[in-house]
Amino acid sequence: MQSYELPANAVEVSRLTKIYAAARGGIGKRALKNVDLKIPRGNLFGLLGPNGAGKSTLINILAGLATKSGGEARIWDFDIDRMPRQARAAIGVVPQELNIDPFFTPRALLELQAGLYGVPPRERRTMELLAALGLAEKAEAYARTLSGGMRRRLMVAKAMVHSPPILVLDEPTAGVDVELRQQLWAEVRRLNERGVTVLLTTHYLEEAEELCERIAIINHGEVIACDTTLGLLGRLDTKEVRISVDRDLSYLPAALERYNVELSEGCQLSFRYQASQSPLAGILATLSAMGLGVVDVSTSEPDLEDIFLQLTRS
Ligand code: ADP
Ligand code: MG
Repeated sequence: MQSYELPANAVEVSRLTKIYAAARGGIGKRALKNVDLKIPRGNLFGLLGPNGAGKSTLINILAGLATKSGGEARIWDFDIDRMPRQARAAIGVVPQELNIDPFFTPRALLELQAGLYGVPPRERRTMELLAALGLAEKAEAYARTLSGGMRRRLMVAKAMVHSPPILVLDEPTAGVDVELRQQLWAEVRRLNERGVTVLLTTHYLEEAEELCERIAIINHGEVIACDTTLGLLGRLDTKEVRISVDRDLSYLPAALERYNVELSEGCQLSFRYQASQSPLAGILATLSAMGLGVVDVSTSEPDLEDIFLQLTRS
């Protein structure tokens, strides 16, 4: 007897390309360039990249909302070209823009969506979903009376009506306050713990770091890194320190060369190092031995920008 096997990867994308048609004779926009990506089943996976990187384009292709220009994509082992209906049934998408009809109640909205997906009334989980997302008491309220946070949660419930094994959230916390962000993260974690594979896009490094077990970094339509969060952080673990000294230097003292220090404006020393190395004490001791006084020290963690620079340089 053959047993039904679950796929190892919830999503598999290979050589995926998207070129948006040009407006009036210009060159088309290559929004995705030969993207390869595997999202293991059960993962909480982050697609991280700045605005315009191609995150929504990738997600919209998976969701069947945009057509690809080349390459292949499989969702839950269903090829999106050959088995589009099954592929679409396996995924629930919360889009970046929230548009909810203000005169629908949460219950009516979920019932309508279930109908669109052909979920028979007996199998609908409307109240269970509303309860799971903390909206049970608002089941009969007009959507226009819901807070921003409740609307987001309603969109998550809406994406789940057909019980897809994969939930995709496009920038779920963009422009959302800190408290609500924590709340959404908790809900996403809960769904993931119940076995749902989650793919979320974000341009916030902290969000990917806090929430996701694997992260792919995308920039200008290309995946430039894909690793476990820990693996990625290990690679990106640089800090930058600036030290102002009390005297103008005409050249970089030889004793500082081995620390990879740069001199600017005569009295500003800056250097980058791996947080695990921590050469700061050595540098300060060297300055002191040279009779230089320290006026100011400031450190900065790398932001997404630095990380991209670092990754695209190597
Ligand atoms: P992200 O979601 O990472 O911010 P998008 O996938 O929305 O990025 O966009 C990727 C690139 O494709 C951007 O340069 C964007 O301007 C362009 N783009 C997105 N949608 C369209 C469209 N419908 N027509 C033309 N260009 C588009
Ligand atoms: Mg987007």
